Amino acid sequence: MTPEIRFIVDAMYGSLARWLRLLGYNTVYSDTKSDDEILRETDDRILLTRDKELIIRARKSTIHVLNPGSGSIRSMLQRLQEDLGIQFVANPNESRCPSCNGTLLLKRREDVQNQVPKGSLRNHNEFWQCSNSLCHQVYWQGRHWTRISNTLKQLKSDETKE
Ligand SMILES: [Zn+2]
Repeated sequence: MTPEIRFIVDAMYGSLARWLRLLGYNTVYSDTKSDDEILRETDDRILLTRDKELIIRARKSTIHVLNPGSGSIRSMLQRLQEDLGIQFVANPNESRCPSCNGTLLLKRREDVQNQVPKGSLRNHNEFWQCSNSLCHQVYWQGRHWTRISNTLKQLKSDETKE
């Protein structure tokens, strides 16, 4: 993960925002922000949008803006990797909360037993809790994590094909 890269994502890219947070990237996202608010709040973040008008306005304000396109998550991530010269890596210890962008803290089973279904509690040893007191969501490496790892593996193989 490259901590100096931070994103602000427009309303069309909600699921991409969740992915970027899981991959450890500090990502601002809100589906209620107006274009004006987005442009005002970039604060050195890279703006991700495919809205042509917003792209033009961002460029005029010398905001770093990228268009991840409209394909699958995999193709969007691939494009960001190429544009930014980075490699996405799945590391749960660097993940941010996909729902609120809060940082996650590693927790022991006893700390989260009331918030995790029994089966998951039994099958996993590591749990992470969102540090944002308004959120406090608990995560573990369930099936979604296998999907994330597989998608990232595909990114790598796409690269070697070319
Ligand atoms: Zn959270």
